[in-house]
Amino acid sequence: MLAELRIIVQRVNSASNLLSALDIIVSCVRETLKTQVCSVYLYDSDIDGYMLMASQGLKEQAVRQVSLQADEGLVGLVAKNAEPLNLKDAATHPSYFYLKETGEEIFNAFLGVPIIHHRKVLGVLVVQNEEVRRFDEGEEAFLVTLSAQLAGVIAHAEATGAMAGLSPSGQKLTDTVFQGISGSPGVAIGDAVVVFPQADLSQVPERQVNDIEMEIEFFQECLKSVQQDMTALESKIGNQLAEEELQLFNVYARMLDDDVLGNEVIERIRLGSWAQGALAFVARKHIRAFEAIEDDYLRDRSADIKDLFSRVLLYLQKKKPFIPKYANDSILVSNELTPSMIADVPLSNLKGLVSIKGAGNSHVAILARTMGIPTVMGVTDLPLHLVDGKKIVLDGNKGNVISNPTELLLKDYTEAIIEQDQFIAGLEDLKDFPCETKDKHKVHLWINTGLMSDTIYSVDRCVGGVGLFRTEVPFILSERFPSEKEQTLIYRQQLESFAPNFVTMRTLDVGGDKDLPYFPIKEANPFLGWRGIRVTLDHPEIFILQIRAMLRASYKLENLQIMLPMISNVREVNAAIELIKRAHRELRQEGLSIKFPPIGVMIELPAAVYQARALANLVDFISVGSNDLTQYLLAVDRNNPRVAALYSAFHPAVLGSLNYIVKEVKLVGKPISICGEMAGDPGAAVLLMAMGFDILSMNSAALLKVKSVIRSITYLSARDLLDSVLKKDDMHAVRKEVDLMLYNSGVDRVLRSSRTN
Ligand code: PEP
Ligand code: MG
Repeated sequence: MLAELRIIVQRVNSASNLLSALDIIVSCVRETLKTQVCSVYLYDSDIDGYMLMASQGLKEQAVRQVSLQADEGLVGLVAKNAEPLNLKDAATHPSYFYLKETGEEIFNAFLGVPIIHHRKVLGVLVVQNEEVRRFDEGEEAFLVTLSAQLAGVIAHAEATGAMAGLSPSGQKLTDTVFQGISGSPGVAIGDAVVVFPQADLSQVPERQVNDIEMEIEFFQECLKSVQQDMTALESKIGNQLAEEELQLFNVYARMLDDDVLGNEVIERIRLGSWAQGALAFVARKHIRAFEAIEDDYLRDRSADIKDLFSRVLLYLQKKKPFIPKYANDSILVSNELTPSMIADVPLSNLKGLVSIKGAGNSHVAILARTMGIPTVMGVTDLPLHLVDGKKIVLDGNKGNVISNPTELLLKDYTEAIIEQDQFIAGLEDLKDFPCETKDKHKVHLWINTGLMSDTIYSVDRCVGGVGLFRTEVPFILSERFPSEKEQTLIYRQQLESFAPNFVTMRTLDVGGDKDLPYFPIKEANPFLGWRGIRVTLDHPEIFILQIRAMLRASYKLENLQIMLPMISNVREVNAAIELIKRAHRELRQEGLSIKFPPIGVMIELPAAVYQARALANLVDFISVGSNDLTQYLLAVDRNNPRVAALYSAFHPAVLGSLNYIVKEVKLVGKPISICGEMAGDPGAAVLLMAMGFDILSMNSAALLKVKSVIRSITYLSARDLLDSVLKKDDMHAVRKEVDLMLYNSGVDRVLRSSRTN
């Protein structure tokens, strides 16, 4: 059964569009289960019903012609209940609805299973037989398994059609919503610019060229270069290859030599495609065909085919490096956005960001919030290769991307952008007012930094200090470990910008989702592995160098604080302090008299929550990293869009832990701050203030929003709210109550609807 499943899935994967995928499904299932009928019905929002999209066994003329309303017939029932329905005599069931065009009256046995993707029923897969008998357990289990495996492929094929403006049944589609996760609030309208890594055939977007003949010539020239490379390679290593390998090598070389592949690509260029896109299209087709072959050995050759095409792609990319043109309203789209991709775009042209991978608290989303750029993460169904150059609407509040927008939708969003810009401009008036509640309770708002651009923006906002400087950002943007001198310069600039206010520099926090290209860490469970302090304590040379640079940079400014990430026990703190003391001693010996800075520990792990008091006793301050703390408490990967709905700082376990930490740290009289993203969520900030956090440190774009909310409420009402939500057992109930309190306090809608984690 497993082998049959695998073959069907591979064959479906090799289909080039939705209809051929569905045709493959119905014919394979009918053959494997030896049924008389197999059909697929898909939900079409335009008709609010299920269209018979493919069938073997029902009358051909009914296919893509007949449909059932959403709540009609057995198909509607399977979809509504989202569970299989197995009947030996369908016609006797009260929900049976006879579609005469299909000729299904002769079939009695009926088995329907829902096709579900991301909790949404896409359609129903049905098998039918004349014989009056229930399908057996094995048949039912097979269909359920197959449907679960194919749901993603069907969703992807549907999304590809939707991007082209077509619903499953071929109706014209408008305002097609691709759901993702909010990465940074705000809305934007712009032209999508897809950025993609080199030599990756799966990510090359489709683009049009004007001069087709020139593009063909360019392609032929690159193809020839690869052929020459292959010939050279063969003469160099040919005598080291076994006979079989040599034969294969020759087959590949011939594939390039004979005109078949080249001609296929050229044909596609003639249709207006650029060479990279044409090559990737032909490559994907051949790779899919190889992957669908039953023979294991031949199937494995798909990797060689991929390699061959990638070589040509790399040539195309190297010979004519693609420099994206960033129009005034550019929305950057990528499979996996990185800080360096963002850094490449002129800021004034960048209106929004979209990442297929990642979730609301991925580091790139945090960066986007810091920069105040509306962002949507985890839009897993967005067809990346079709979106380039398209006008899209990005809603960073709801976390979705809309293609084929109607004039009406564009008008609504244009108004929303004006409202949002006016609101943000209005907040500037608060700059010089203190951050205090109506009953004069003060709370300190600091900011998180990492980019130089934050500094310029934040200094202007009269912030009280920097609660988290993510020192890894300059490391990520560099091509090797920055030297002590280079680091000193960067740190000095930070310290000078904010002096005399404190700048809290966190020691290098790499690992997890923060990879340094020149220091890759490959692990099965990176978030449970070599991260943060664990890396730097194992590499004292890197740690000491960084501390020396920080201390040196603070010379005569004396506004440095050092903070340690990912602490899970007291030994790590003691070891780190020893190294900091050593670096300090070394500089003194060099004649630099530098004040020993306050040291702090981040509480980011559940273990540290229960050691809060012991840790606080060792250092000068505690800062809670609620991004990681939420991830580890709830066991929800902060980067995984599939589980993003489970990630919430309003979860009672998170709120309970935070409240506990504050009490423990206060018992030993040490200051406590929070530098996770929840501090920048206006509703959460109210709760944190009520818990007793001394400092809330947030991305600079959130600062005035939080200040505006704090100034709209009383401390007394915040305490009451906290008392009440701490008794709640559900995160959604907590969020609702917080929102209600903000509403009652007259807080603007823009602030209430901001992101929640
Ligand atoms: C945190 O985990 O809350 C934090 C501030 O650190 P980072 O987001 O950089 O992991
Ligand atoms: Mg962290």
